[in-house]
Amino acid sequence: MNSSLLAPLLLLAMVPLASAQAPLGARVETAPVPTSGDAADDPAIWVHPTNPSLSVVIGTDKESGLAVYDLAGNQLQFLPDGEPNNVDLRRNFVLGGQEVTLVTASDRASNRLAAYVLDPVTRTLSDVTARDITLGIEVYGSCLYQSPFTQRFYFFCTSKDGPVEQWRLFDDGSGRVNALHVRTFDVGGQCEGCVADDGTGYVFIGEETEGVWRYGAEPTAGTGRVLVDSTDGGHLEADVEGLSIYYASGGRGYLLVSSQGDNSFAVYDRQAPHAFLSSFTIVANAGNGIDGVTDCDGIDVTNLGLGSAFPGGLFVAQDGSNTGGNQNFKFLDWRDVAAAANPPLIVDSLYDPYRCPDLASFAYRDGANPPILVNQSLPRLGSSWRIDLDCSGHASGVALVFGYARPGSGIFTGAGEVLIDPQSARLFRVGAQHLGGTATFDLTVPLDLVFCGMPAHVQGSCWGAPARELSNAIDIVLGF
Ligand code: CA
Ligand code: CA
Ligand code: CA
Ligand code: CA
Ligand code: CA
Repeated sequence: MNSSLLAPLLLLAMVPLASAQAPLGARVETAPVPTSGDAADDPAIWVHPTNPSLSVVIGTDKESGLAVYDLAGNQLQFLPDGEPNNVDLRRNFVLGGQEVTLVTASDRASNRLAAYVLDPVTRTLSDVTARDITLGIEVYGSCLYQSPFTQRFYFFCTSKDGPVEQWRLFDDGSGRVNALHVRTFDVGGQCEGCVADDGTGYVFIGEETEGVWRYGAEPTAGTGRVLVDSTDGGHLEADVEGLSIYYASGGRGYLLVSSQGDNSFAVYDRQAPHAFLSSFTIVANAGNGIDGVTDCDGIDVTNLGLGSAFPGGLFVAQDGSNTGGNQNFKFLDWRDVAAAANPPLIVDSLYDPYRCPDLASFAYRDGANPPILVNQSLPRLGSSWRIDLDCSGHASGVALVFGYARPGSGIFTGAGEVLIDPQSARLFRVGAQHLGGTATFDLTVPLDLVFCGMPAHVQGSCWGAPARELSNAIDIVLGF
């Protein structure tokens, strides 16, 4: 090799990559939890529906109950109740005919699923469990999932032995929450942290000594899984602990993981194949006297702006050793996390995956195929989305369009390239007769906020002599 070419390559190899762990300082720390020792574990951020400054963070004291903190870290409530290890919430559960914030915890004291609602006025929790919902595994971590396909809510519970249980949550008819076991699968080793992506239908589970696994979150998804990152040669150091999703518009966002063994937090692309993007640590903030974070268990993040205290979103981490008292939770400004990455991460403080301020969108993706599938309107909720499939050059036959949850590429058939992932959920499939010309499809998009921001990957095929032919794809995002 010519040395004048090699020299610049060597120089490039010596430039530090973005994998260096950026040291960040917390802006706020919460009051300590009541119990001494390893007691604080997992936080969940609740966004107030009308005044984001009144948002709260719920944190577990895994020896004694749940605490509610305001954005300055003051404790608003401590609810003594069992030994809640992990906590999660959804703001759009319907209970007794009303939309409520459902909060769940995995209670190790009685090996059960605990359910609460958060009163938006008093900002306090109260129990709404319909009965003693005892699990069939020794409960440990837990997380919630709302299916973008069926809108149903599910509770995932992990265990130290490896089995994970999935339970469907529902209103028991008297305004309390009951649950039905729908699936068990075995991760293999000790699991605690988990998080579901309500947009893509995946659940991510930390196997503490091994790494992060991705499973399908639907009860029918089976046991197929993908290793997102590993403690063996990856960007994680055992134990793998808390996980959280940062949502952004258009299906964008991040998966965040607490890498307890090296006191760092890893950031991955929310979209498959979940590329590693950056990593950071939380060090003492000399400016405000808040100590750094070590031995972190649970984390949570929100992209939504929370008033003047956290206008660019909030990241929360449990701290295993709090200078000044029992363990507590540290609050970081998401803008600090975003700016420390190279290139910087998204700051999308307006997108609400449960409220849909986003515009519907579409984009063409031709692959190896002719551009014969043509977008004619935007896929807006409560409207009819029109697309045309141009089958000219074929004898009369069937024109088909089909939508899948995930895109694909690189599968070539005699009819052309397959541009959807046939392993993902099929969202629709519609046929019409074409007469050697253009077939027009009007597809109804339900008026339901749960579909807001949901991606779909649509492709068509023309039948009729001389041969079947696959079209380009249209990637859409549903919205207003
Ligand atoms: Ca701990
Ligand atoms: Ca653990
Ligand atoms: Ca833990
Ligand atoms: Ca600390
Ligand atoms: Ca402190």
